[in-house]
Amino acid sequence: MALTGVQIFKLLPKTNCKKCGFPTCLAFAMKLAQGGADISACPDVSEEAKATLGEASAPPIRSFNLGTGDKAVKMGAETVMFRHEKKFVNPCAVAVNVKDTDDNLAATAEAVAQSEIDRVGQKLRVDAISIECASGDSATYEAAVKSVAEKAPDAALILNCKDAAAVEAAVKAVADRKPLINGATDENAEAMAAIAKAHACPLVASADGLEALSTLTEKIKGFGVEDIVLDSGAKSAKEIIEHNTQIRRAALKKSFKPLGYPVINNVIRDDSILEASIASVAIAKYASIVVISSIEKWKTLALFTQRQNIYTDPQVPMQVEQKIYEIGEPTADSPFMITTNFSLTYFIVSGEVENSKVPSFLAVMDCEGLSVLTAWAAGKFTAAKIAAFIQESGIADKISTKELILPGQVAILSGALEDKLEGWKITVGPREANAIPTYLKGRA
Ligand code: SF4
Repeated sequence: MALTGVQIFKLLPKTNCKKCGFPTCLAFAMKLAQGGADISACPDVSEEAKATLGEASAPPIRSFNLGTGDKAVKMGAETVMFRHEKKFVNPCAVAVNVKDTDDNLAATAEAVAQSEIDRVGQKLRVDAISIECASGDSATYEAAVKSVAEKAPDAALILNCKDAAAVEAAVKAVADRKPLINGATDENAEAMAAIAKAHACPLVASADGLEALSTLTEKIKGFGVEDIVLDSGAKSAKEIIEHNTQIRRAALKKSFKPLGYPVINNVIRDDSILEASIASVAIAKYASIVVISSIEKWKTLALFTQRQNIYTDPQVPMQVEQKIYEIGEPTADSPFMITTNFSLTYFIVSGEVENSKVPSFLAVMDCEGLSVLTAWAAGKFTAAKIAAFIQESGIADKISTKELILPGQVAILSGALEDKLEGWKITVGPREANAIPTYLKGRA
């Protein structure tokens, strides 16, 4: 039986620590009761409380991993229809499909293994390879799966095959990678569920339309498989938007468990531009996995960028890690500058330091992702806080002259900072980042 917000509240730590993203334990409890939050967001809740919460604590959209290891992709666990209500949490995985009859199969797998790019401090990559059984032959399929697994050792694997015997052989070869079995239909559900259960692998349920799909997921669950991915058969952009939205709404607003799972969309088209466009629609509207046919760099860059923007928390500015960054190969005599950890600020400042060709140390201070002036105005980039950060950073042991170059926009801090940082010289640097190269070269 579902618990009320007050009943759930009684089981929470009641410290109002806000780590869950809600201002109080009661607010979190109320949201949990509505199915709009996941109990795992509270790091301090006891195991006993979790067990007691039972169904009430189950996320409205089941959460599990695609793949294993560091690069596994967490799916599901979404709690809102619209990003501005809170945030979307688990970015859609991009998977590329290869056929077991394709001569270039190994090359595609290698390309996936090398697909990672760095964009504003985040590593983005093609996450998975879907291996399609086009040959209809178990031995050919198993060999293809092994070959892909070997060439792309970190990628998640999707076994795209409706033949239970072929899946059984292939899954044994890569069982440690926990492949997603994309093969259950109404006809073969029992056999596929048995394989998925035996190897603790997630299973895609494929049906034509949402009614048939919910019947199928219940059937699969009855066979003992919990980690299910939904394929509603949506093909056109219109169908993808409609089906994915209805699935999300049923799970979140109606607590309809048979559709409370992540969604996979196959968007493969002969026309690459069309394929990228439909993939983009799926990423925007609730897909957890989008399957494409090839990984041209223009296509993946566009999809990665869109995915990154959609899954960025709208209430939290993009941030980089607080630390002392070494740009070039600085020595004890190199300049030492400071800025804040707003990603854009960091990338502009570090880019201009690089342009100067003057090796430097750049201290990036955690100001909750605010730019220099905003952080100063918000009391997060103050003389006392900067002094504490510099003293704890250990930079004094790396440079021969204790000189700190402040952003020109906060020149006002220089006097107070000299008082707080005993033995340091505080120099005011340029107001604008584009003046940094001339400034640093002038000092060299
Ligand atoms: S994280 Fe847990 S203890 Fe902290 S406010 Fe949220 S529910 Fe309460």
